[in-house]
Amino acid sequence: MDFALTEDQRIVVDMLGAFARDVMAPAYMATDRSGAFPRETWTRMSEVGLFGLRVPELHGGQDLDCVTAGLAIEQAARGDFNLCYGILNSCFMGDLLGRFAGDGLQRDWLGPMAAGTRILSVALTEPQGGSDAAGIRTRAVRQGSDYVITGEKASVTLVMAADAAVVFAKTDPEAGARGVSAFLVPLDASGIGRTPYADMGSRGIVRGALFLDGVRVPESHRIGPENEAFSKVMSTFDYTRALIGLMCLGAAQMALEDTIRYTRDRHAFGKPLSANQGVSFPVAEWAGKLEMARWLCLRTLWLRDAGLPHTAEAAMCKMLVPEMCVGAIQDCLVLHGHYGYTQDFPVEQRLRDVMGQIIADGTPQIQKLIVARHLFGRQFV
Ligand SMILES: Cc1cc2nc3c(=O)[nH]c(=O)nc-3n(C[C@H](O)[C@H](O)[C@H](O)COP(=O)(O)OP(=O)(O)OC[C@H]3O[C@@H](n4cnc5c(N)ncnc54)[C@H](O)[C@@H]3O)c2cc1C
Repeated sequence: MDFALTEDQRIVVDMLGAFARDVMAPAYMATDRSGAFPRETWTRMSEVGLFGLRVPELHGGQDLDCVTAGLAIEQAARGDFNLCYGILNSCFMGDLLGRFAGDGLQRDWLGPMAAGTRILSVALTEPQGGSDAAGIRTRAVRQGSDYVITGEKASVTLVMAADAAVVFAKTDPEAGARGVSAFLVPLDASGIGRTPYADMGSRGIVRGALFLDGVRVPESHRIGPENEAFSKVMSTFDYTRALIGLMCLGAAQMALEDTIRYTRDRHAFGKPLSANQGVSFPVAEWAGKLEMARWLCLRTLWLRDAGLPHTAEAAMCKMLVPEMCVGAIQDCLVLHGHYGYTQDFPVEQRLRDVMGQIIADGTPQIQKLIVARHLFGRQFV
């Protein structure tokens, strides 16, 4: 076992730590207030390679291993948690398109995505339900060498800013999970509509609904074999669950560090707040829990890098870490007293923002199902 970062990983952590502090953090609260997409910061992020972490070098990416990508997203989340959705999507797309898309699709989308000029989103969830992903109703019907896609997608992150979405649709409606395919759908295609949601958090990146009314895409836009989106393509979701954990940990760690500063500086009863164990002990406990969670996420990514099974570990990351981080941030808010409840400090926004990741990419209940199936055997759960 070796827990040490490599020289390259240390450079990534130091460089991105400084970038997150100096470039990303200053706009974090302003974007929440305005709800405007932070295009300028997005461009700056692309310049340091944050949207190409898992993109092959051939397409202008960094082609980093999963552990290093995890270290990178954790650092970025210290600056702006919400912009990490862009990093997350780009890691997902790097693996997804890199492994399952044809050359043309990779060339047209991976390079521009890494360069920050094209944004990609994921459209799986539908209005009638997201947990039962195999129950989607969106249809893709083959017509000659095209597919014609019709349906409604819900809860698409970056829906208003995106240039394309990877849309999951039924190509064999009678076959359940074995009848789903994935397509890259440019969002300037005829038949596309989209509307934003008014969310409690992550406002600048905007989530919303995507409507597809007879949208025609060529066969070359199918990602992976027909009907095999669930058995093959969806495995990409595994490792992004560990990235989500690290993204939440970056935000929670910032809340903890802010709280340490605040409670050292503020005095009550003639001494710093931090001199009370009622203040310092919760911070100490959370520091321990976050550290534990960090190693679960990093080990999951290490398993992926080593080509070893990691589905259950990834589900554990998603099951435990976002909720844990929300708990930590909530305690940090209370330790800020009434100021924590104002918008003068970032802690209330961190709480709103990070909460979304408890639900996104599968709720804790669904992750527990995955872990339980792994432990007991599918037929016993
Ligand atoms: C911030 C955010 C970003 C998101 N981004 C995207 C995105 O980019 N693309 C995308 O496609 N989706 C996205 N989602 C959607 C997300 O993946 C779904 O919300 C999630 O999978 C749950 O689906 P649902 O909301 O339809 O809840 P439902 O499936 O309706 O479930 C409602 C509740 O019932 C529980 N439940 C359901 N079935 C079971 C069961 N068998 N056992 C126990 N409990 C159960 C769930 O855990 C949940 O608490 C995002 C969501 C959020 C909040």
